[in-house]
Amino acid sequence: MTETLTNRSLIELDRDHLIHPVASFRGHEAHGARVLASADGMWLTDIDGKRVIDAFAGLWCVNVGYGQESIVEAAADQMRRLPYATGYFHFASEPAIRLAAELTALTPEGLDHVFFTLGGSDAVDSAVRYIIHYFNAIGKPEKKEFIALEWGYHGSSSTGAGLTALGNFHRGFDLPYKWQHHIPSPYPYRHPQGDDDAAVIASTVAALEAKVAEIGADKVAAFCCEPIQGSGGVIVPPKGWLKALREACTRLGILMLVDEVITGFGRTGPLFACEEEGVTPDFMTTAKGLTSGYAPMGAMFMANHIYETIADASPLPVGHGMTYSGHPVSAAVALEVLRLYREGGVLANGVKTGARFAERMEAIRSHPLVGDVRYRGMLGAIELVTDKATKGMFPAELNLGDRLSQMTWDNGLIVRCFANAVIGFAPALTCTVEEMDIIFDRVQLTLDQLLEQPDIR
Ligand code: PMP
Repeated sequence: MTETLTNRSLIELDRDHLIHPVASFRGHEAHGARVLASADGMWLTDIDGKRVIDAFAGLWCVNVGYGQESIVEAAADQMRRLPYATGYFHFASEPAIRLAAELTALTPEGLDHVFFTLGGSDAVDSAVRYIIHYFNAIGKPEKKEFIALEWGYHGSSSTGAGLTALGNFHRGFDLPYKWQHHIPSPYPYRHPQGDDDAAVIASTVAALEAKVAEIGADKVAAFCCEPIQGSGGVIVPPKGWLKALREACTRLGILMLVDEVITGFGRTGPLFACEEEGVTPDFMTTAKGLTSGYAPMGAMFMANHIYETIADASPLPVGHGMTYSGHPVSAAVALEVLRLYREGGVLANGVKTGARFAERMEAIRSHPLVGDVRYRGMLGAIELVTDKATKGMFPAELNLGDRLSQMTWDNGLIVRCFANAVIGFAPALTCTVEEMDIIFDRVQLTLDQLLEQPDIR
């Protein structure tokens, strides 16, 4: 391969060889790649020198923003010292041990054990495997059914994609599995009693109770949910929802897996969304903000009572592990990211700029296209509708997801444009108030331009 690739040939090589995540193969070939070249703070630059503001932190992961030199140094230092150490055969590395200790001191009380993965999908997959193992270990092998939420997303492993309830992840993949069930999402905007928080909460609890009764309590292993449903369109349940579901799981004798892959690490304000609700799940999964995307890593936390049970019941090796579990470079990166969150003032800045985010979200509510505005901390979405009164959804043929994605890009902005005309925001927690204003000025411009288009009004 020649050293100097022109921008054109990069796009051609991408088209000819690189399979992209969650893409129509032919659709991507026709669209072509937007090749990113560099980044600093909130800003990305592509290979043509176009500069855009990233209001989505990459893929809701770069919570500390781009260009943090101290992370680069931590990674380089660890690579020089010890680039790899396995966790198999009783080996370990200092960064992995320190990270395990620091994290478990920060997670909700009673989650003192962590298994490191490469990202969120294998964190969820690990939790499912350990849950299955746990029920076999305690002599309840019939407890194997899992319940999750409609609109939920739990990664791209076979089991996680089955727990997910988004059509793309099931279609053509023979999912969900027979042991994977779904109940309605709280989705306040489209809930018949959406204005009544208590009714929304009660309806999810009732749906869970009904599903457990239908399957049989002796057969259900666990309920799995995100505190805020991210990839389903940033669906924000009322405060108290997670706590009510925790109580319901305990009452029903099923385990609770809370997937904090997006909500973890300050995204919604506190370090974990569970913390805000005083909830200790039996399993908690994280990734993304753990390393802020500077290196791949996820973490699955296991409650002490599960750990102790497996420890006593399974004297033989528990056959679960990956070559890169607890990778020392990723762990060194995560340790520095954790330092930035707390001592570097990143969490505090997220709370400060989060107040401006809330103001600008509230202001955009009056736009004629905006039906719903929902957010918590630095995570949010607006939902566009044909008519505010009827909450009419735009027909799929209008292809608003792709159109908005192109329009925002043309306006120098990256947000997440969902197919159902939802625009998602997850800016870095390092975003300044001035940058937040740039983001929303560009959102406003895009919505005004969309309103002018003949097939929209
Ligand atoms: N769970 C949730 C809630 C997620 O949002 C994601 C990723 N968007 C995953 C799991 C999967 O994580 P990853 O893409 O790192 O495998």
